[in-house]
Amino acid sequence: MDSYVELFRASNSIEANAFKGLLEQQAIPVRLLGEALGGAAGELPMDTQQIRVLVQQCHLPAAKGLLQQYQQNIAPWQCSCGEQNDGHFELCWRCGSEPVT
Ligand SMILES: [Zn+2]
Repeated sequence: MDSYVELFRASNSIEANAFKGLLEQQAIPVRLLGEALGGAAGELPMDTQQIRVLVQQCHLPAAKGLLQQYQQNIAPWQCSCGEQNDGHFELCWRCGSEPVT
């Protein structure tokens, strides 16, 4: 079995799990480290709530490619109406059009 290496650190478990789902769609196994462990998490300071996303060494190049795509997808985009939209929006929140690519 290949050993797991850190791909990136997500700032919260929502982000970590969203990306985990993306990798698993590509048949890349993922491990998350740093999610609440056995109820002890309540005592940890906030900055340890970061989630480490690990993939196997052999999948690292592919996973990095997906990570780049993922980070581009959440980058802000500008609509043809001139509105700046957060990358999480698939449609312009103002006029409802799709991003022009
Ligand atoms: Zn618009």
